[in-house]
Amino acid sequence: MAGNERLARLVQDDHTDAVEAFEDRIIAQATGSVDADFTALVRRTVVAWTRAFGSPDAEAANPSLLRRILKAVRAAIRRILQGVGIRAQQTMEDSLTDAVMLGARQGSEWLRQVGGGRHDPLPSRPSRGLRNATARVAAAVDERRDRALAALRPARVRRWSAVATAIGTARGAVASIRTNVTWAVNQAVNEGLIAGIRAVGARKLWIAERDACVNCAAYAGHVVDVGDDFPGGLSFDPAQRGRGVDLPAPPLHPHCRCRVVAWKDSWAVEGVPTLPETLRREARRSVARGWSLPSETNAARIRAAHELLRTGAGLPKSVEEFAATAVRAGRFANRSVPTA
Ligand SMILES: [Zn+2]
Repeated sequence: MAGNERLARLVQDDHTDAVEAFEDRIIAQATGSVDADFTALVRRTVVAWTRAFGSPDAEAANPSLLRRILKAVRAAIRRILQGVGIRAQQTMEDSLTDAVMLGARQGSEWLRQVGGGRHDPLPSRPSRGLRNATARVAAAVDERRDRALAALRPARVRRWSAVATAIGTARGAVASIRTNVTWAVNQAVNEGLIAGIRAVGARKLWIAERDACVNCAAYAGHVVDVGDDFPGGLSFDPAQRGRGVDLPAPPLHPHCRCRVVAWKDSWAVEGVPTLPETLRREARRSVARGWSLPSETNAARIRAAHELLRTGAGLPKSVEEFAATAVRAGRFANRSVPTA
C-alpha cells in the first residue's frame, strides 16, 4: 500500500485534475464562442455609443439614436445566446454517463493503490436526480438573457455603463453554465465512486482539496457507512456551523471538488496514523496555514483558525504559532498552498 501522503495526492492532484479537464471540455463544448462574442459586443457598443453621443461617459442625448443602439444590442444578445441553454443541457446530459465512469475508473485505481485489490470499474448510470438537474442550466441561461433584455429598455439607460452592465448580466450565462457543469460532473464522479465503494463493501471516506473551504475541510477524513449520509453543517468556522443538510457525498457546494473514496479499517498499517487521521490532520494544518482560495473570505479563515487554536489544534508548535500570529494580525498574508 502506498503512503498516506501519496494516496491523498493521487485523489487531490491526479484525479481532481482529470475531473477538471473533463469539466473544461464540456464547458468549452457547451459555451463555444459565447464569451468571445460578448467581448466583441462590448467593443462594438462602446464604439457606437461614442459615435452617437461623443464619449462613453456622455448621456444619451438623442432618444432615437439611443433606441436604435439598444435595439441592436438586444438583438445581438438574443443571437449570441440563441440555443446556448439547450446546447449546454444536451452536452451535460450526453456527458453524465462518462463522468460517472470516470469516477468508477478512479475508484478502481484508488482500490489498487490503497490495498483493496483489483476491481474492474463498474458501469453504472447517473441517478435520476442528477439527470433532472441538467434541465436547470437551460433555465438559468434564459433567465440571464431576459434580465439583460429588460435592462436594455430606453427608459432604463442613460449612459453606456448601463449597457455594459446589461451585457455583463447576459454574459453571466457562461459563468452559470460553468457552475452547473462543475456541480453535475462532480456529483456524477462521486456517484461512480460510491457504486464502487458499495461493490467492495467498504465505507465512504471524504477527501477534501488542500485549499478547501472551512466547511469542506471539516469533512476531510470523515468516514460513514456506504448507505449513510454525512452530517450536515460541519465547519471549522463557528459562524458557519450548523447550516446545511445531511448529504450522501460531495459536492457540498458549487465548485466543490471534494470526493469520497473506499475505506476499510483493515487497510490501516500498524504503527502509522490511519489515512482518515492523516486527512483530518492535514485539514487542521490547512486551517492553521490559511490555505484557501480567493473566493473565501479572510474573516472566515481567521475565525476558523482562532477556533482551531482555542479547541486544540494538535499541530507542531511552529504551525500553531503561525496561526496565532495570523489571528492576532487579523489576516493570512499568503493563502495559497505551497507547490513544493
Ligand atoms: Zn468541497
